[in-house]
Amino acid sequence: MQLLNYLQSQKNIMIEMLARWVNHDSPTFNKQAVDGMGQMLVEAFTEAGATLTATHPQPNFGDHYTLTFGEGNSQILLLHHFDTVWPMGEAKRRPFTIENSCATGPGVHDMKGGILISLFALKAIHHLGLTPPQKLVYLLTSDEEIGSPTSRGVIESEGQRSSYCLVLEGAVEGDLTTARKGVGRFKMEIKGVAAHSGIDPEQGVSAIEELARHIQALHALTDFKRGIVVNVGVIAGGERPNIIAPQATAEIDLRVTHRADGESLVEKILTLSPYLPGCQIKIVGKINRWPWEESPAGLAMFKKAQAIAHQLGMTVGKRYSGGGSDGNFTAALGIPTLDGLGSLGGGAHAFSEHTILEALPLRAALLAEFIMQSETTAQ
Ligand SMILES: [Zn+2]
Repeated sequence: MQLLNYLQSQKNIMIEMLARWVNHDSPTFNKQAVDGMGQMLVEAFTEAGATLTATHPQPNFGDHYTLTFGEGNSQILLLHHFDTVWPMGEAKRRPFTIENSCATGPGVHDMKGGILISLFALKAIHHLGLTPPQKLVYLLTSDEEIGSPTSRGVIESEGQRSSYCLVLEGAVEGDLTTARKGVGRFKMEIKGVAAHSGIDPEQGVSAIEELARHIQALHALTDFKRGIVVNVGVIAGGERPNIIAPQATAEIDLRVTHRADGESLVEKILTLSPYLPGCQIKIVGKINRWPWEESPAGLAMFKKAQAIAHQLGMTVGKRYSGGGSDGNFTAALGIPTLDGLGSLGGGAHAFSEHTILEALPLRAALLAEFIMQSETTAQ
């Protein structure tokens, strides 16, 4: 209980820090802004006792950082991303605001609230002079919201050295995440043949008609029962109303629960052939995050966290998420992973995004206790 007592005493400091972080925009594509956020976090983590062990410079995105705390041959990996989906200026438009003990603002839950919980769990362990049973490795990365193209390598290589991985994504209703859907992205380009719709329409081949047929076929692959969703989310095409459309494009999002479904659907999508003679189609894409299916080791981690939460007076359930996270990468490598350890709240990527402030010390205590009670032989 000493961890919780200390963290309860830190509640106001936690809220002030969260306000500062939320009021600093960090959209994935603005390197300068994201780097500014990263600097603030590195400072906060080093003040809390961690050592910056590596900066991973990026030319186009924010730099990523590795920090460590404690010693040991084995390590626990903690994953945090500090980019948000919100554009520059969002924090001016919707600054950090508290209403009925609930905070709102861009990134307050996804995942600045989660980073705060991790920071204060560390601060509590350090302040109380406790020694974690394994070395703690903190990864702060800047491109999760676009699929982690530049941070994936460092996440996977640190993951492979770790006995298990903890992910600080937000928790809906306080639940922890033990499995997530896989996510694939595809782009389809269709070339038709232009013609005047009044003078020689029979000479044309409509790329839009071709696309329309593919949209219907692709959406027909959705099977909610099996956890498959194929969504053509963005389309474009054509020149003018009186021209048979010479080109059309589509962006496709694929979600799968099972790896085998992912494999067969990728094959299906990449080998689609044209319906209309004279049309050409080109499709590129892949599964970026493979499904994270619940594992016995992951379930054991959840049960342990649930028991600790119970001791702290919290109820936590487990949740299967349709969204991907960096936890998909570590879980796919067979590293026991537990996600959803971040802030209690909801509304990620929406104006309704919020974090419940009362729960901040409790969630930090849950993480700190979990780390302290982990055995060195967790793997
Ligand atoms: Zn997130």
